[in-house]
Amino acid sequence: MTAVIHWFRRDLRLHDNSALNAALESGLPVVPVFIFDPAIYRGERASASRTAFLLAGLRHLQSELARRGSGLVIRHGEPVTVLRALMEQSAATALYFNADYSPYARSRDRRVAEALGVERVRSEHDLLMHPPGMVMTGEGKPLTVFTPFKRRWLELPKVLPRTAIGRFHDLGGVAQGVLPEARELGPVSLLALPAAGEAAAMARLERFAQTSLGEYKERRDLVFAQPWLEQAESTSALSPYLRLGMLSIRQAYEMAMAIGQQAEAGAQVRASVETWISELVWREFYNHILYHFPHVLTRSFRSEYDALEWRHAPEEFAAWAAGMTGYPIVDAAMRQLVQTGWMHNRARMIVASFLTKDLLLDWRLGELHFMRHLIDGDPAANNGGWQWTAGTGTDAQPYFRIFNPVSQSRKCDPDGRYIRHFVPELRDVPEQYLHAPWEMPIPPRGYPRPMIDHALARERTLAAFQAVRS
Ligand SMILES: Cc1cc2nc3c(=O)[nH]c(=O)nc-3n(C[C@H](O)[C@H](O)[C@H](O)COP(=O)(O)OP(=O)(O)OC[C@H]3O[C@@H](n4cnc5c(N)ncnc54)[C@H](O)[C@@H]3O)c2cc1C
Repeated sequence: MTAVIHWFRRDLRLHDNSALNAALESGLPVVPVFIFDPAIYRGERASASRTAFLLAGLRHLQSELARRGSGLVIRHGEPVTVLRALMEQSAATALYFNADYSPYARSRDRRVAEALGVERVRSEHDLLMHPPGMVMTGEGKPLTVFTPFKRRWLELPKVLPRTAIGRFHDLGGVAQGVLPEARELGPVSLLALPAAGEAAAMARLERFAQTSLGEYKERRDLVFAQPWLEQAESTSALSPYLRLGMLSIRQAYEMAMAIGQQAEAGAQVRASVETWISELVWREFYNHILYHFPHVLTRSFRSEYDALEWRHAPEEFAAWAAGMTGYPIVDAAMRQLVQTGWMHNRARMIVASFLTKDLLLDWRLGELHFMRHLIDGDPAANNGGWQWTAGTGTDAQPYFRIFNPVSQSRKCDPDGRYIRHFVPELRDVPEQYLHAPWEMPIPPRGYPRPMIDHALARERTLAAFQAVRS
């Protein structure tokens, strides 16, 4: 009996999965496979917590497939070799997968297509609402500034979620393999991670849509409001699910639009929905940037900034990474990253600004540190976020806009709940001093004094940027 293969990568769901839909609609039984590619989980950008979240997601997928009379074929190794053998073992006539736009994924997928024969390989767009090449200028060039990109993106007709009906292979005669233990894949994460899988993703989306989306515009910068801290969330915390495709962009978009279009939705709700959809567009924007300008992974988007003289100060980088800078909001956020595998968006901007603008340390150091810790660590969004904050990227924050860690702290953690949670040394500091404890008559013991004077650091950075610009 012939079959087709669906190769799961960062699309760990059975609903609204474009390539899986196409495979199911081929009429042949579908063999679902996941390959542990050492280039990814053993690479220098791998993260123990992301691997743990992936494994939990695969377990969920496995049980969903078992309910459909199938299973998940697990393989380890270089995808070309693995897939060639599996096509033979399962008598498969075609291989289906969803396109991925990072340079590594594109070259891997090209090699797979060449090895198996392009006529047997079907790649679908799924990761984004509008794939690279669809959101362009009138002259067919990539849009490198966010606002026009978003305008064009919003104009394009949207695709709705869809789940095909078809058959999965019962895997008789195909060795399934077992899911590895985390320790077989590298360092083990001991963090308490959010529940993985598409059911958990949908539950989180529904909860966010029902309870918090309507106030997103007003509340999204409040860093203490997070499910990790058992507070009503200010943002959706869906990024880990979108990262590994436990939720599709179409599902997220459709849910938000439905809330915005409810008869009772007032102006505040509609504005919040619009703002949240803008965030989904940022995700698309950075994926397009990475696709059209793959050099951003190693160099500045704007080549003039390759000449910036970043400082070399490993001990300062270590203090930043450990959450021991003496600036409470920076330290709380850096500790949140290590303790939970996630960080609030506003906090990401504050710590990235502190590393690149206060310490004048290379954004690539921070980007790599984030990739090693984030459960949502994503090459496109992470690179975009770092280059935006460093001022070296597309549509960059002007280089002279430098986050002040104290005033930011007062705005996004007004009563200090976030700081008190992650920086226990400051738990008893009165509110008026919490954002700048060095101003206390007797500063708290066991907590460092600020490692740098923000005002002086600001001048140094402005001078460094001006030197390059002139
Ligand atoms: C320095 C830095 C590094 C970042 N690294 C990553 C990363 O590795 N992975 C990642 O998914 N996001 C990254 N972001 C973007 C953003 O911080 C996270 O997507 C967001 O905090 C996730 O929380 P949420 O799901 O509650 O977001 P929400 O505010 O609920 O937004 C909904 C979704 O939109 C997308 N999104 C939101 N903001 C952005 C943005 N600025 N850029 C791209 N997509 C966005 C995410 O998929 C997010 O889940 C980074 C931002 C900065 C400043």
